[in-house]
Amino acid sequence: MARKPVIAGNWKMNTTPDEGVQLVEGLKKRLSGINDVEIIVAPPFTHLSRVGEVVEKSNIKLSSQDMSPKDSGAYTGEVSPLMIKAVGCQYVIIGHSERRLYFGETDESVEEKVTAALNHGITPIICIGESLAEREADQTLNVILTQLKGGLSCLTAKNLKDIIIAYEPVWAIGTGKTATDEQAQDVHHFIRKTLAGLFGEEISGQTRILYGGSVKPDNVSGLMTQPDIDGALVGGASLSVESFEKIVKFNRS
Ligand code: PEP
Repeated sequence: MARKPVIAGNWKMNTTPDEGVQLVEGLKKRLSGINDVEIIVAPPFTHLSRVGEVVEKSNIKLSSQDMSPKDSGAYTGEVSPLMIKAVGCQYVIIGHSERRLYFGETDESVEEKVTAALNHGITPIICIGESLAEREADQTLNVILTQLKGGLSCLTAKNLKDIIIAYEPVWAIGTGKTATDEQAQDVHHFIRKTLAGLFGEEISGQTRILYGGSVKPDNVSGLMTQPDIDGALVGGASLSVESFEKIVKFNRS
């Protein structure tokens, strides 16, 4: 079964709610009719409800950038899976390197959130990736293996089809330094091979693995022609209708 490409925009902590609505209205117009690419936007929590109303019944799907693993309770400041689902989220980004770096996210908390997302029928977009120091110390594949095994031990051959993995080398995020097509493909291939070893070739061949790290209109096609790259998680370039449109249309001239 061919893997449908995914282009997901992570808005991070950018835009006011009004600006977010304007952005997604622009995207909705320019991307209507595209059904061979899964298009996802991940606005801040405060925008989800309004952006969700704009994209309802369109080809643009909604994601949150994080969530609590708990359903409800005394967890001040947290937002639960039930809440994001109620405003239309079908996806949630989990374990983004900025959450790992600034907010103490670990492989254990990633696993807890992935489990919660799957229990609620929300597709987790699980982020993994090495730092510059780890790459320079030739530790990339070890780090990836640890993050995969540690954060994903709740996965089985049955639910692997319900997740998306995003390989995001930390040194490429927001820096303008993209991994070369070959560097990205090598790690994606390693991830797929690892999943095949854990869960079998068939299901690993159906798992979507996205690349993230300074993806722009001018480098997306090269990345997307790599055999194990199934899409992109886009930060900065998802904040403009023009650039996100071009990235989503990577396969149209
Ligand atoms: C990201 O936030 O996941 C990301 C890849 O950001 P950027 O595209 O800006 O590097």
